[in-house]
Amino acid sequence: MMIMTPKPHLRAGRLWLPILVLLVSCQPAPSGTAITNVTVIDAVNGVRESRTVVFDGDEITAIQGADAGLNVVQTIDGTGKYLIPGLWDFHVHLTYDENFTEAMPALFLSYGITSVRDTGGLMHKVLPVVEKMRAPDAVAPRVFFAGPLLDGKFVVYDGDGRPEIGVQNATPEQARETVRSLKQQGVDFIKIYEMVSPDVFQALVETANELDLPIDSHVPLSLRASTAGPMVDSIEHLRNIEMDCASNSAELHEERIERLKNPDNLSGADLRSSLHSLQRLPAIANYDEERCDQTLKALESTLQVPTLRLVSMSLAPPWQRADWDEALARLPAVAAAPWLETTLERRTDPPQDVDTTYAEWGLFLTERAHAAGVPIGAGTDTPIGISVPGYSLHSELEFLVRAGLSPLEALESATMRPAEYFSLQDQMGTIDVGKRADMVLLDENPLDDISNTRAISMVVSKGIVLTVDDLGQLLDAVR
Ligand SMILES: [Zn+2]
Repeated sequence: MMIMTPKPHLRAGRLWLPILVLLVSCQPAPSGTAITNVTVIDAVNGVRESRTVVFDGDEITAIQGADAGLNVVQTIDGTGKYLIPGLWDFHVHLTYDENFTEAMPALFLSYGITSVRDTGGLMHKVLPVVEKMRAPDAVAPRVFFAGPLLDGKFVVYDGDGRPEIGVQNATPEQARETVRSLKQQGVDFIKIYEMVSPDVFQALVETANELDLPIDSHVPLSLRASTAGPMVDSIEHLRNIEMDCASNSAELHEERIERLKNPDNLSGADLRSSLHSLQRLPAIANYDEERCDQTLKALESTLQVPTLRLVSMSLAPPWQRADWDEALARLPAVAAAPWLETTLERRTDPPQDVDTTYAEWGLFLTERAHAAGVPIGAGTDTPIGISVPGYSLHSELEFLVRAGLSPLEALESATMRPAEYFSLQDQMGTIDVGKRADMVLLDENPLDDISNTRAISMVVSKGIVLTVDDLGQLLDAVR
């Protein structure tokens, strides 16, 4: 608090001293932290220059002019820097590969990711990880989790040749029971997978709605995107939407229904991939703009998480980036080893004649969806598909800009959209008084170039200030 020099006619007055003492003694003890004279950027307020942002514990308590008085414990000079809301990775798997699990919270924070949505893991594995991340003294991103992939009679991720992260829902009764049990165990939303039948899908959706659980889903192969989409809150990977955008979408659907009877008794994974191989590229070849407009219209309230860094990876492989080696160096050695090998192989012997049809389709459909007003969310599927936790979210943001989002819209997809999904827009997603203290301080302007989200100077997670040194120490402890 500033104390003004008294006006001359008061200077000699005897009354002034007691008033001054009173003023000083009334001033509360300093508390909180201020980031001063910083450019604040978020998707709702746009750009606010020369602001001082004060937070106390896990709450933003003031946003004021850079020269307003301060009564804080700690001041951080934000001059020449940019403050954005903490980022979300809206599609992660904390327990998919145990070599990553313990390091993931530190990796996420080191890249400015202060919230994650876990879209699939068995409860007995994911629950202890969530509890640890949510412990009062934990330095970890906020976490929202679904439990297992809710699959159908045939289960893709059944543990045979790939991690077990899916569970069977052969009947509507079983589906209802599964969702009730998950709710009791504390999940934040459910994740419906690709092999469910229409009646199981219906039962899962109804039960989740009764229990007030947001629904994440793949487009089930038994359904069409324009049917399943409006019934759920988010859809992953844009997958199977191509089949609904084709001029022969009805035929393709009928063919799938027949094949899903599984006469050859394939495994869930083989049955699924056989359908993808059979219909994906032919559907893209039969793309029908009018038909696709109808599909996108049906999806206008369903958040699309395209995971382009996965779907379109061949257009900008991570191992071609200058910062990829540094990203691998942040990983625990056991987790990095196979990716170092892949990197070396790809660099010395780059794959030739890669078919990029599907990769380009991913970018194209994201662009069309965005133009049609479909909300877009930023998620990576880390660690699946050579995705370094945290690092890959920045690649995703770049892909989203490549697909036509403005840098500010890309930020929205990793801040406001996720907050809205969980009805937390009053608490998260922007830098406003009363919101949670999750923020990232950048050295460069992300609106000039979205890759500047990588220029991290400091991270604030749940009100805890983490300098680059602090983040390095967190990583060292889990590497
Ligand atoms: Zn996933």
